Amino acid sequence: MTKWVYSFGDGQAEGSAQDRELLGGKGANLAEMCGLGLPVPPGFTITTEACAWYYAHERSYPPELERQVDAALAEVARITGRRFGDPRNMLLVSVRSGARASMPGMMDTVLNLGLNDDTVEALAAESDDERFAYDSYRRFIQMYSDVVLGLDHEVFEQILEDEKAQRGHEVDTEFTADEWREVITLYKAKIEEELGQPFPQDPREQLWGAIGAVFSSWMNHRAITYRRLHNIPASWGTAVNVQAMVFGNMGETSATGVAFTRNPSTGENRLYGEFLVNAQGEDVVAGIRTPQSITEAGRLESGSDKPSLEKLMPEAFAAFTRISARLEEHYRDMQDLEFTIERGKLWMLQTRSGKRTAKAALKIAVDMANEGLITSDEAVARIDPASLDQLLHPTIDPKAERDVIGVGLPASPGAATGEIVFSSDEAEELKAQGRKVILVRVETSPEDIHGMHASEGILTTRGGMTSHAAVVARGMGKPCVSGAGALRVDTRGGTLTALGRRFSKGEVITIDGTTGQVLAGAVPMLQPELSGDFAAIMEWADAARRMKVRTNAETPADARMARSFGAEGVGLCRTEHMFFEGDRIVAMREMILADGETDRRAALEKLLPMQRSDFVELFEIMAGLPVTIRLLDPPLHEFLPKTEDEIEEVAASLGIEAERLRERTEALHEFNPMLGHRGCRLAVSYPEIAEMQARAIFEAAVEAGARSGSQVVPEIMVPLVGVTAELDFVKARIDAVAADVMRERDTRIGYLVGTMIELPRAAIAAGAIAESAEFFSFGTNDLTQTTFGISRDDAASFLETYRRKGILEEDPFVSLDREGVGELVRLGAERGRAARPDLKLGICGEHGGDPASIAFCEEVGLDYVSCSPFRVPIARLAAAQAAVRNKA
Ligand code: ADP
Ligand code: MG
Ligand code: MG
Repeated sequence: MTKWVYSFGDGQAEGSAQDRELLGGKGANLAEMCGLGLPVPPGFTITTEACAWYYAHERSYPPELERQVDAALAEVARITGRRFGDPRNMLLVSVRSGARASMPGMMDTVLNLGLNDDTVEALAAESDDERFAYDSYRRFIQMYSDVVLGLDHEVFEQILEDEKAQRGHEVDTEFTADEWREVITLYKAKIEEELGQPFPQDPREQLWGAIGAVFSSWMNHRAITYRRLHNIPASWGTAVNVQAMVFGNMGETSATGVAFTRNPSTGENRLYGEFLVNAQGEDVVAGIRTPQSITEAGRLESGSDKPSLEKLMPEAFAAFTRISARLEEHYRDMQDLEFTIERGKLWMLQTRSGKRTAKAALKIAVDMANEGLITSDEAVARIDPASLDQLLHPTIDPKAERDVIGVGLPASPGAATGEIVFSSDEAEELKAQGRKVILVRVETSPEDIHGMHASEGILTTRGGMTSHAAVVARGMGKPCVSGAGALRVDTRGGTLTALGRRFSKGEVITIDGTTGQVLAGAVPMLQPELSGDFAAIMEWADAARRMKVRTNAETPADARMARSFGAEGVGLCRTEHMFFEGDRIVAMREMILADGETDRRAALEKLLPMQRSDFVELFEIMAGLPVTIRLLDPPLHEFLPKTEDEIEEVAASLGIEAERLRERTEALHEFNPMLGHRGCRLAVSYPEIAEMQARAIFEAAVEAGARSGSQVVPEIMVPLVGVTAELDFVKARIDAVAADVMRERDTRIGYLVGTMIELPRAAIAAGAIAESAEFFSFGTNDLTQTTFGISRDDAASFLETYRRKGILEEDPFVSLDREGVGELVRLGAERGRAARPDLKLGICGEHGGDPASIAFCEEVGLDYVSCSPFRVPIARLAAAQAAVRNKA
């Protein structure tokens, strides 16, 4: 018989942290905490397998499930001494979802289940606190109606707001028991009116309703969106946790809170968290009341006059600090904890590895390695390479003038500037138009995920550091300021009021998620520091890494930036980029428009010194590191004017007839330029172009070598080779120029000639090509284009549809397609190496900066990856992780 239900409680558990797949993250960790003997309210977990069964059987339950649930309920009854549905001694439970991967706020939890018109009286009598009992009941009705009965929570909020206003209450805690009773009467009437049915009074009906709701919530819109954004398969399913209630709303000696064992924003090794007295469940996160700091240090730092938990409930605080330290050591990672204090007694309700900013992730990993809790390889493995992006992005220049219009909480670091928008849909619309926006909301909810994605940053006027906006923004690596309470947002009127100034939709503001400041207008930004923890992780990564990391760079600025990010050479210098600036484009056009070889050579003569000085500079910046220079690649018409006006202008400046220019442009027109007269085909048609470039490279190598006193060994890359004879033809010209320059300068020059592998034919014929080529660089942009037969420039219109319809899981231009393009890379590498064992192998497409693609390059055994300067640190880290994984 299949076991669908796993119990925990009283220091024992049938599952453990190992059972994450079966019990979900929450259930597995509840079991683990129980097994460790920590104070966890008893309960049980219905497995993710039951959820899969439910969906495989038209949303029905496995036949044995009911009996197993009853048995588990009986066990909880034994431990607590209470019985589910017993009006004199009732057991109340929470029903909580919990998938394998944590999906915060994505699935819904129901608290206080088991309450009805009878049991609420019993609860009041037992606790000797009517207010508490009725508060719990109304919460239950609200949650259950929303999650299980599908009634919009706004309905209840409206009633509550009206009642509050009528009675002059500011916060919920001011309601008396009688007032709650009246609210409940209104709630129940509303439910009957909306659903034509009374609120269910039978606890068993309530329980199965909630279990079904958790299972169905796996397929709700929010959950589906979240899974899509985080690549979580729908087949995983969620578990259901049913757990005895403990109450944080039993008066002034009760509380509920959330905490991180280290600061999730900075990584600082200090307990960090928030709590509310006399509150339940999500109150802290929901931003209904402003939460208090757990530690005294945290309180002082935030300048709050509300007492800390440390002061208010010292015993519970001491127990909590002990447990959080124990859990961090046990899991060997920073933990995100939920707890409740019921009349002074501490209960643990959840633990999981905490989400953190990139900065905090670095600090925590480095600190933990230094503390000896983890190894340096583990520290390297803990950092998500893509998250480094956050650290490489600008912060506000400290010298900049700040026109501060408000201050909130520094919820997610980094600064961002953009136009104000008040809704997520607007954010998405403007983003699609290429505009930059800041999403401004009272608070955010899971319905805002798409808007948050589309925004540069998020500003809310309500909610704490653990509010939805803060948690999600940190996860996305977007700057966020939350709880800027002095700002007024009028969503309908489309205005933000601050210090008496009014800002409308479309006006530009800047938020500083590091300080919590909100500023009017745009503000100068600074590049980040790459020392400290960043440098430490990079050093460990470099020690673990096998592949080299080079950069794709043409300009001195890019090359310098890449070196400061740790690039170990240039993997791709696209020479054509050097021809667009200033006078060069004129000489270039002269060359293209020339009537014959003589004229062409004359024009090339003008380009030679410019090209040479570019290379000298590049060699000097990359002193001692390899530099791969690619010969001219794009079709020539890319350099010619397009519009009539441009044609007139260029013709005038070249001193030729506009008509001739037009004819020449038309003659160069191609139907499929990307498959046309480009790459080495240009060098075959016009060898003098390749010769000029080779000369510029060799002369620059001699010059830079002489200046630095060490030999420069350039790597010359011939693009778009399909057959060996193409390479041989171009290589012969290069060798001849090299011989000339050596003779003229009376010196020796070391150099390599190789090719880009970017056509399927080249990958297949790699063995023959490697007879001539001394290195290969896989040009995976073109190789993807030519393998799929999909034009990169036209793909955007349908690739997104392909992804949405599940035909392609990932954009193959972003992440290397292992099955097709990857196989060609593997084949090319194998055949190339077989022909020439010391063949140097690299990759220089966009994929060289994509962690998953880098992992593939490690598996295939490439010597290096090359990527854009900003991705160099990401590639260093990803290459290290791949090497560590491959070793294991
Ligand atoms: P989420 O996955 O959104 O965090 P949870 O299942 O953890 O949802 O529950 C939401 C809130 O309810 C949390 O604050 C949690 O601590 C609280 N909660 C859940 N179960 C209980 C319980 N048995 N007793 C008291 N509070 C609970
Ligand atoms: Mg939780
Ligand atoms: Mg190419």
